[in-house]
Formats: sequence, structure tokens, C-alpha cells
Amino acid sequence: MSGVIFLGSGGGRMVVLNQLRHSGGFWLKLSNVNILQDPGPGCLVMAHKRMLKPSSLDAIVLSHRHIDHSNDINVMIETMTGGGFQRRGRVIVPGDCLNDDPVVLKYVRPFTEIIEIKEGMKLSIRDVNISFPIRTVHPVETYGIIYEFNSIRLGYIPDTEYFPELAQAFAGVDFLIINVVRMITDKRIRHLNIGQAGDLIGSIKPKMAILTHFGLQVLKASPEHQAKLISERTGVSVIAANDGMSVSFEEKC
Ligand SMILES: [Zn+2]
Repeated sequence: MSGVIFLGSGGGRMVVLNQLRHSGGFWLKLSNVNILQDPGPGCLVMAHKRMLKPSSLDAIVLSHRHIDHSNDINVMIETMTGGGFQRRGRVIVPGDCLNDDPVVLKYVRPFTEIIEIKEGMKLSIRDVNISFPIRTVHPVETYGIIYEFNSIRLGYIPDTEYFPELAQAFAGVDFLIINVVRMITDKRIRHLNIGQAGDLIGSIKPKMAILTHFGLQVLKASPEHQAKLISERTGVSVIAANDGMSVSFEEKC
């Protein structure tokens, strides 16, 4: 049984700093491999609230270092490794999470295996293949991700400005999780707007797309309504994430 549970569905400063939606990222269970993606503020609390066992994590992955994606990384490394007493798991992060002004503290690094993401990198955790097909356009080093398990491909388009190569990088995915912070683009902060997310979903044509990481503009415009509009426009099944929502990847294929 493979699926995702959203420990948060908020993004952007106003929503995350005021916790209008939670911001703990999402937990993937793929062929019995447990992966935590982008543990933002509150991840530890939300994981326990959802009765998930951080000690069962096989990996923690950061798409990038911004605080709404990385705030709980160190405490999640501690809990994955029994307070550092059981060296296990992997932490897979961009280089700028490790070097100057690191978000992964040095003292927790010996507790686990640290892997630095490079564009095009591929690795496996048991039956799950993970690849990083493209570096996105965002103010810090940020990577898109494809998880492959049981012949299913799940893509994650994290924070990024729109650029045409994105659609090609995620071609052929069955499921797509996509961060949509804005209704209208603000060039300074380099995020997809809802129209661009819809265009990407229309050209990638997954079996199902899940919108998440909503900023205030999207929350005000109703993520569910926006998902419905994209669905009507593209013919793809599109849903909006909610805090605590889980989606099975098996039954949709
Ligand atoms: Zn960001």
C-alpha cells in the first residue's frame, strides 16, 4: 500500500507564519519505504498527531532550504535516529543546506547518511528509485524529484518560477504533487501561479495531480475550486491538499 499523507498544506510567509494551514511537508509511504519530504515548521508535532512513527523513516528529503520546507529537519533527524543513538536513514539535501549557513546542523550529521543532491542524480532505497531530474528556478538551490515504485512514478514540483523545461522533466509521471503559492506572479519571489500550475498539469497529463503549499492568495480563492477549474480545463483529475489528507497511489492506477 503506497500513499502520501500531508502534514501541512500551507506555503508562503503569511500562511506559514500565522499557521493558517499547517506546514509540516508530506510523508510518503512507498512500497514500505517511508520518506519525509520538506519538514517545515510543526512537522514533528503533526507527525505524532497523525500517529506516524518517525523512527520508521528511511529518508528525509529537502527540495530546498527555505524555512517553510526545512525548519524541522534537525529535530526530525534526531527522532529518526533515536536521539542520535541509532545511526540510520538518509538525509538527502541540496548542497547549500550543508555549506555556508547550513540548515542541517553539524552535530546531527554523524547520526545518518548525508547525501548532497546534484541535478540528474539517481539513487535507490530498497524498491524505490529516486531521481532529481531538474534544478528549478528559485532564489536558493532547489530540485524537482521523481519517486518510482511498483511501476508507478510520482513527481514533485517544489517551489519554482515557471520555465518550459519543467513539463519535459516530469513527462510520464502518474501522480504529480505541485506547489502553488500564488494566484498572480510576483517576480521577486519566484513561485508558480495557479494558471502556470494548470498549464504544467495540462502538458504533463498525470493520472492525478495534487495541489499543495498554498499561499494566502490561493487560500482566499479556494484551492478546491481552483483544482476543479484546472480539472475541467485539462481533463486531469486534480485535487487540493488539506492538512492531514491522505491519498493512496495504488487505487488510482
Ligand atoms: Zn521556497
